[in-house]
Amino acid sequence: MYDVAIIGAGPAGGSAAIFTAKAGKKTVILDSDQGVTKRAMLYNHYGVKEITGPELVKTGIEQAKHYGAELIEAKVTGITKTENGFKVQYDNGEVEAKHVILATGFLTDLAESIGLKTKPGTEPRVKTIFDVDANGKTNVDGIWAAGTCAGVSVHTIITAGDGAKVAINVISELNGERYVDHDVLK
Ligand SMILES: Cc1cc2nc3c(=O)[nH]c(=O)nc-3n(C[C@H](O)[C@H](O)[C@H](O)COP(=O)(O)OP(=O)(O)OC[C@H]3O[C@@H](n4cnc5c(N)ncnc54)[C@H](O)[C@@H]3O)c2cc1C
Repeated sequence: MYDVAIIGAGPAGGSAAIFTAKAGKKTVILDSDQGVTKRAMLYNHYGVKEITGPELVKTGIEQAKHYGAELIEAKVTGITKTENGFKVQYDNGEVEAKHVILATGFLTDLAESIGLKTKPGTEPRVKTIFDVDANGKTNVDGIWAAGTCAGVSVHTIITAGDGAKVAINVISELNGERYVDHDVLK
């Protein structure tokens, strides 16, 4: 049983995984390699003068793995509710997790499998998004969404920040108190 299953390893999902794994939460990321960030060249990501999209995504996954997150390279095909959380099904297997964070970019087809509410997107070319509240919660308790699929502005600094925000909310819920991740300069 994982604490958190994150679907999508773009900036939103990778960033969420860094936070959940670093907080000691057993984290699995599932990714189908269909992300749009792999086509980007970035000159507007705060703190980074320039970086290719593929390099940003690769580095994010390496950071998450460094803190113990596991990566499964597969397309998730369905999510079902269980007594203690969710089963996340992919091509040739499944994992169980207490919480699920959807970070699926432009893809929202998973909504149907578990009855998630969607609504029209407002950002250019984003047709449909998951209907989330300000914390990133969907209408199904325990399923959250972050990044492009949650309707935020389509920029890496924002999708990555949204992934971090939602992860902090999930960690806080698991811990029963607000969570902060601050390391201190020695
Ligand atoms: C050509 C181009 C240029 C761009 N240039 C810039 C720029 O200069 N500056 C900037 O800030 N932004 C730029 N962007 C936008 C930026 O890449 C995105 O806005 C943002 O980073 C998307 O992050 P995300 O994590 O929400 O989605 P993605 O990066 O799309 O990641 C979503 C991930 O979810 C996975 N996924 C989806 N469904 C499933 C499933 N069922 N099972 C498993 N995995 C799944 C996908 O495989 C993918 O890896 C550009 C985008 C494009 C296309």
